Amino acid sequence: MAKTISTDKRRLVWEKTQGHCHLCGDTLNEDNWVIEHIVPRVFTDHSAEDLWNLLPACRFCNGIKKGLGPDHMRRVLMYGRYCATESKFSTDVGTAIYEYVGRRAQRSGSEHQRLWAMTTRREATKRQEKEIVGSEI
Ligand SMILES: [Zn+2]
Repeated sequence: MAKTISTDKRRLVWEKTQGHCHLCGDTLNEDNWVIEHIVPRVFTDHSAEDLWNLLPACRFCNGIKKGLGPDHMRRVLMYGRYCATESKFSTDVGTAIYEYVGRRAQRSGSEHQRLWAMTTRREATKRQEKEIVGSEI
C-alpha cells in the first residue's frame, strides 16, 4: 500500500529535476505528477521511501515503468529503441509493430493514442519522402 509522502518531501522531490519528468524529460504539471521510485518498492526494504529513491515523473512514464526492475527496464528501453527504428524506416517488422501499437493504443487511453498518432504523422512524412525520391530516379 502506498505511503503518504509529506508536502515538504514532495517539494524536495520536485526540486531534484526542477519540475521535469526524470524518465522522459517533459515539463511536469504541478497539479498532475507522481513520485517515481528509482528502485521499485518490491525490490527495496524500508528505504524505498527515502529521498534518494524518489524522483518526479509524469503519470504516463510512471505507468510504463511501474514495478519494473533494472533488467526488465533495460529490455523495455532496448526493445523500444529497436522497434522505433524499425517503425521509423517502415520495414516489414516496423509496419507490424506500428499496427500492433495502434491496436493497443486504442485500448490503452488518450495519451497512448496521441503518441501513436504522432508516430503516424512522422512515418507518413517519411513514406512521402521515399515516394518523392523514388519517383525522381
Ligand atoms: Zn515522463
